[in-house]
Amino acid sequence: MKWLIPGILFFSMLATNVSADISDPSYDVIFAQEVLALGPDGTPYPSTTITPEKIAGMQHYLFDLGRGRQLVIETNIRNAEARGLFGVADAVKRCYQYVETASGGALKKGVLLYLIEFDELPLSYAFEASYPAEANWSEVRLALVRTGEPLAGPGAPIELTDLLYDTLPHELGHDILGELPALRHDIDGHPSYYTRWFIDGICELLAKGFARQENPQLLQRLLAMRNIDSVMAQARIRDQVFVWEQNNSHAMNVESDLYGAAMLLMKVWTERVPLDVLVGQIRAQDTPLDGYALRAMLEAVVGCNADRVCQRAELAGKRMTRENALTSRLEHPPGGGDSNTL
Ligand SMILES: [Zn+2]
Repeated sequence: MKWLIPGILFFSMLATNVSADISDPSYDVIFAQEVLALGPDGTPYPSTTITPEKIAGMQHYLFDLGRGRQLVIETNIRNAEARGLFGVADAVKRCYQYVETASGGALKKGVLLYLIEFDELPLSYAFEASYPAEANWSEVRLALVRTGEPLAGPGAPIELTDLLYDTLPHELGHDILGELPALRHDIDGHPSYYTRWFIDGICELLAKGFARQENPQLLQRLLAMRNIDSVMAQARIRDQVFVWEQNNSHAMNVESDLYGAAMLLMKVWTERVPLDVLVGQIRAQDTPLDGYALRAMLEAVVGCNADRVCQRAELAGKRMTRENALTSRLEHPPGGGDSNTL
């Protein structure tokens, strides 16, 4: 997948960045990520090609995630342990525990993480690595860090922090929901089932729930990015959220708002039915569920129509913002391990 970044580099977004080519006769899976940063005149900055096989001093770290699952970190960081590599591994372990406990699901596969260090981070880059298909990863991810930056704690780079505490739990949520036989998922090139508000709403709940457990101050920034306190007051977002498709032409800010709106709908639902119970109910369904069927379930649980559900979601967004602002003022170091859930 290719990302275009206009203007000065600053971005943090949830998007799948893995392109898997399983048609390759060697059955290797290709992980590719391309980021193009645009200058003020719209011209892309020259792209740097990053190929881990050609990077000197790559090291391989293996961590046990339990039940046969592994976290593998491939990195060129020379003093990785002193810089906090074990803190990264611990965060991934806690993420697995959180997602499984909150969802009631089981993650079957591990994580392959490339951590590549540069003296000067490339503005535009293309990364490609291949690994055997049978390796069976839930997630394959890349994070770039500057030489000397800590990997864990308050000084860790924002991109790595967002990857560990927001993107990873979100994507693991997709792995859990992908195991529910009745739940329909949009497929490229096919008509939409309009289940995205449900699926990405749950994934966002998991992501923000894990961020809250780990660091309420980080959660405050993540909630602000989704305009959680006001997103449901926008008529166009309320109109779009239940017909949100995988393939669309939304601007990035609208797409980001729709993630927030979807999360708030699921917040309203899971205030009445805990998430692990809801996932169990969906798992037990034997007839296919599209977005309309799910919306009818939500209306029945809340006891009102979709318009009123959206009003409740708007109130939930204001409440979450207020409550988290209060919590984040209290001293709450990362990895504190409390059991708050959203
Ligand atoms: Zn998603």
